[in-house]
Amino acid sequence: MPIKIAIASGKGGTGKTTVATNLVRMAAQRGYQAAYIDCDVEAPNGHLFLRPEITQREVVRVPVPAVDEKRCDHCGECARFCQYHALLCLPEQTLLFPELCHGCGGCRLLCPKDAIQETTRDIGYCQSGRADQADFISGCLNIGEAKSPPLIRAVKSRMPTTGMAFIDSPPGTSCPVVESLRDCNFVVLVTEPTPFGLHDLGLAFDMVRLLDIPCGVVINRASDNDRETLAWCETRQLPILASLPDDRKAAEAYSRGKLIADAVSGFAQPFAELLDTLLSLPQVACHTVSGERP
Ligand code: SF4
Ligand code: SF4
Repeated sequence: MPIKIAIASGKGGTGKTTVATNLVRMAAQRGYQAAYIDCDVEAPNGHLFLRPEITQREVVRVPVPAVDEKRCDHCGECARFCQYHALLCLPEQTLLFPELCHGCGGCRLLCPKDAIQETTRDIGYCQSGRADQADFISGCLNIGEAKSPPLIRAVKSRMPTTGMAFIDSPPGTSCPVVESLRDCNFVVLVTEPTPFGLHDLGLAFDMVRLLDIPCGVVINRASDNDRETLAWCETRQLPILASLPDDRKAAEAYSRGKLIADAVSGFAQPFAELLDTLLSLPQVACHTVSGERP
């Protein structure tokens, strides 16, 4: 199994993708087998910075029931069973709302008339390729599709079986994030030193604790206004892994789709130190990472 390091945050726009893409590039440049896994399938954007050469793209499908109206006698058993209210039984018709269906297959098993068959529907696609020396895997959810966890599972199932995987998680604390973080060895929580950032860091920290995954914090856009964040982390014995300075040049490089560790002087060092810190963590150091140590 690869070492899985998730990059997460309680809110969007804190710099998750910046941290994940720069880390994977730095690890690959040092000779490690590194992979970038974009699980932010509703708004994937790691490709804008890593500019991968995509070599494979696959549609991802999920199972859904199909009701055979010729067999159905509208008994309503299936609609009563479905916990997600994806079926509605009317006197003359049994309706399916596919976007609510979780594909459990229960309705098919219990239908007394054998009127339900299983079919599939597309929810998005996975793509993979290479970004310089790193593997690149991402998913893209179809517009209007409500449930991303099955696609996130499909993305994660395609990650390499060795080396280091940096998982760019969706923002927030809901099911897609939990799916992205599941089975990870360590979570990097990216925050910004604002009241809003601190509030959502608290939510993300609570979620990661419930999942029982060790974690640490990267403060992005740090300046002299990060004292409250530092104190909050200290109270909870939450290690600060890195502080990335607030810098207009970094924002400009980001807006042009450039990796700031490469494009802005002064940023290679904090990312190098962040990678060293991650590699020295007991949860990571106990694994054999493919590649050469610098
Ligand atoms: S359980 Fe079967 S027969 Fe009854 S309403 Fe559903 S599909 Fe029709
Ligand atoms: S497969 Fe499960 S979730 Fe989907 S409609 Fe049937 S019972 Fe509901």
